[in-house]
Amino acid sequence: MKKSLTLIILIFFFFNSCKKEEIKSNEAKITSFTVANVKGTIDEGKKEIMVILPSFSEVTSLPSTFQVSAGAILLQGTITQQNGITTNNFTNPVTFTVQAEDGTKVNYNVIVTVTKSNEAKLLSFSFKKTLNNTLMVSEDVVGCLKNTTMTMNLLETDLNFPNTVSIIPSFSISKGAKLLIEGIEQTSDKSTYKFSSLPTNVTVKAQDGTEQKYTLNLTSQILNIEEFMKKCPTDDILFSKFIKDFEIRRNGVVVTSYDCNDKFDVVLRILQAIRVIYYVDIYKKSAYLPWTNMRYYDWLKDRVQGFDIVDDLGGAVGVCCRDYNGRKFISLASTKNQSSAVIKYTYQEWVYFAGFISLVGHERRHADPGSYPHNGNCNGVSGDAEYNEKNLGAYGVAYWLSKAFKSGILEVGVKCLSTAKQDEINNLIGVNNWAATYFCLNPPPVNIPASYKECTCQ
Ligand SMILES: [Zn+2]
Repeated sequence: MKKSLTLIILIFFFFNSCKKEEIKSNEAKITSFTVANVKGTIDEGKKEIMVILPSFSEVTSLPSTFQVSAGAILLQGTITQQNGITTNNFTNPVTFTVQAEDGTKVNYNVIVTVTKSNEAKLLSFSFKKTLNNTLMVSEDVVGCLKNTTMTMNLLETDLNFPNTVSIIPSFSISKGAKLLIEGIEQTSDKSTYKFSSLPTNVTVKAQDGTEQKYTLNLTSQILNIEEFMKKCPTDDILFSKFIKDFEIRRNGVVVTSYDCNDKFDVVLRILQAIRVIYYVDIYKKSAYLPWTNMRYYDWLKDRVQGFDIVDDLGGAVGVCCRDYNGRKFISLASTKNQSSAVIKYTYQEWVYFAGFISLVGHERRHADPGSYPHNGNCNGVSGDAEYNEKNLGAYGVAYWLSKAFKSGILEVGVKCLSTAKQDEINNLIGVNNWAATYFCLNPPPVNIPASYKECTCQ
């Protein structure tokens, strides 16, 4: 009896231990590990899992989805990982422990790497008015990017290099990138950069070090004439200067109020013409007018200090000049006496102004010593004796100015206008109609090919 009981006990232990070895596995492997939908690469030999995430991924609190050996569990420290639920901070490598069914433990290191961005784009660049009090700008200057050239148009600022211009730039660039001007890192809205030469080199450096070079150019130029003329002249930052330099009268009476809503008003047309004349050649670096070393505005102001709008000019559209209190005035016909071809244009339309500014030049030429009278009565009209760019008469000045706008000597962004408007300007600029007859000797070409440069920025 004792013998058989021992046998039974032995048999029991034998079977019991046999059952234990069959059920409890010692396998402790991670067979799959995914973070933020990116599957990791498992190096079973090194017990290392690499996960490479897209740039700018947040890694401080990410759940992982995993598969481990059958019957095993995954731990981080002492915390059992709930598949797809428990979060971990992957800023640094994280050690996970697989605990097999039989308690065997194996560690894996999970290394999450965030890809560094290679994007190095300059997205926007501007000079905010509020941050740049020293700049004479009436509104924020927003850069125009074409290919890799960013153009900043500081129309109201006389750049006058090589004097430095200190500016606080505002910009946006690719995420994680840095912007450097001539190698100096800039902080948007904060750093002051002293522009001392142009163009200036701008580099955008991506997070991974990839560089994109840009050229930054400052200009003072009318880039889109019709856009420029949308502004009522009374809103110009220099308006008080304009009306100080040039007095406006109507039939001899000084004009003191202006109505921007009266878009056909001759007063506004004249003020707009003064404004355009001031800015039209501000970008010109050297003397370019054949008859003077001055810019157009200064040449005009030099001998003319006012405009008088006259109802009855005896059929003329302009007469120079009349004195009021020691100031010389150009008389211009009020709309009453002007042709329907021109009175339909508002003070916002360049179509009319290209010719009007030439007319102002014509009248101004009469104020010069010798007055350049109309004395070329050779074609039945009273024009200039000859067209000589070394000594232009009144019609010669008008022709030359019209030519300047058509040929691109004075570039004001006409190409930004519709083709129909460009054609209208070409017709109305007036050169074709009178160039052949108003010069007795050496008449200039009747047809000047229009050479408008590509619109600088859309
Ligand atoms: Zn004349």
